[in-house]
Amino acid sequence: MGRIDMEKIRAWREKSKAKSKAEKEAFGAETAILNANSAYAKLVDRAEAENKKESQGLDVGNDYLVSCRHLTKIYANRVEAVHDFNLDIKEGEFIVLVGPSGCGKSTTLRMIAGLEDITYGSLFIDGKYSNDLLPKERGVSMVFQSYALYPHMSVYDNMAFGLSGLDKEEIDARIKEASALLEITPYLDRKPTALSGGQCQRVALGRAIVRKSRIFLLDEPLSNLDAKLRVQMRSELVKLHERLKNTMIYVTHDQTEAMTMADRIVVLKNGYVMQIGTPREIYDNPANVFVATFLGSPTMNIIEARYESKRIVFPNGEIYELSAKECKDLEAYYQNSLKSLKERKKALVEEHEQRQKLAEERKALGSLPPHFDEELSEIDDRLDAVEDFIAHKAGRIYFGIRPEDVRISNRGGYKANLDVAELLGAEYYVHVYFSNQKMVAKVSAEDYKGPGNGFGLIFAKGKGHLFDFVSGERIG
Ligand code: ADP
Repeated sequence: MGRIDMEKIRAWREKSKAKSKAEKEAFGAETAILNANSAYAKLVDRAEAENKKESQGLDVGNDYLVSCRHLTKIYANRVEAVHDFNLDIKEGEFIVLVGPSGCGKSTTLRMIAGLEDITYGSLFIDGKYSNDLLPKERGVSMVFQSYALYPHMSVYDNMAFGLSGLDKEEIDARIKEASALLEITPYLDRKPTALSGGQCQRVALGRAIVRKSRIFLLDEPLSNLDAKLRVQMRSELVKLHERLKNTMIYVTHDQTEAMTMADRIVVLKNGYVMQIGTPREIYDNPANVFVATFLGSPTMNIIEARYESKRIVFPNGEIYELSAKECKDLEAYYQNSLKSLKERKKALVEEHEQRQKLAEERKALGSLPPHFDEELSEIDDRLDAVEDFIAHKAGRIYFGIRPEDVRISNRGGYKANLDVAELLGAEYYVHVYFSNQKMVAKVSAEDYKGPGNGFGLIFAKGKGHLFDFVSGERIG
């Protein structure tokens, strides 16, 4: 990497921020109103050319090994699979991209790998603009769910494949080192068909290790394994990462893998980043109801309630007391929301006007985007609710509490009815109805005494989470 000129980088960042906003508006507007594939292709070309012109020859500093700036992927069928993905990854980090199927995890990984073109945005690897680099020029190794091993080659040859530029001794030394690490030395002469799933996945990992890539990209590598092997491979991968100290970007739909393996988790939904943080941060302070209910098993209980007279009132009239700080945070949240929603509405209307102008200028491009009305009415609904909340200092709210923060009591507590109690060995998942809503409590088998004569729930102090009723955003 060349000499780092901080002034140049700062100036570029500023310029790039302003420019990318303007470009994005124009580009977003145009892609949304396009009907013709040829016009779409032209736009993609233009965006790529702009990306290149802007970023070529520039360093982004060496603080991060991988920097994703505004990465966006719009497939030719106009599916916006990834929307404005921003992430800076430090050397040695274990990043997990997690979310339900179809949320854009693989597309993001494939853009970093160079297997998928980047429609918009910039990718920097080791400070270098990398959008146009071939996969093999990026210093990345990819491990797939399907292992992608050559069936007619031995394990040794599978691992040696792709190291053709090196001399024989070096190849041999690397394979011996990696196979010892992965405990597959006895199988080096076997063909993949004579191996179990777990052994195949180890060979696939070995193939990545022998390349000595700084960045490993792993796409659901454990999905094909049975439950027991998955748990074992999970901890082996974590240990492997500790020894190799390389950078890993790992894709999974499995929240347990995300929680147990990641230094930082990126939660995705419908192509949008919902939250980025350490497993602890995300678990303790989920950004919204989606994240709260995606991570954790069983998932967080979410109950409809009302905020009234500085307390949470459940539909059955029972009360959850809030601290003075929680009330203050809640009221501040609604004041801030009012301000930001008004700004968003203004920006949306302005953007719509620009799009209208654009559509008139370029009649060939087709009709206006259909989602303006939807977005506007969504903002208006939120604004109505927020204004109402502020005026009355009261309104509907979601109250969240994790199953392990709910205790079962035979004396006192919130009134609840037992639905079913599941014994999992050391603990019970006690499913109950509280205030006509379903909830789960996770209690140790020793502590659970059954419903007895009375049945009450106790919510651990300070463990309640509050979410906005309309947007699902975390409050406070
Ligand atoms: P995930 O890895 O989270 O399951 P993907 O990145 O594979 O999600 O897909 C994200 C979205 O992009 C999905 O809606 C999917 O249908 C769509 N998609 C993926 N690949 C293509 C493609 N080659 N062409 C068009 N749409 C695609």
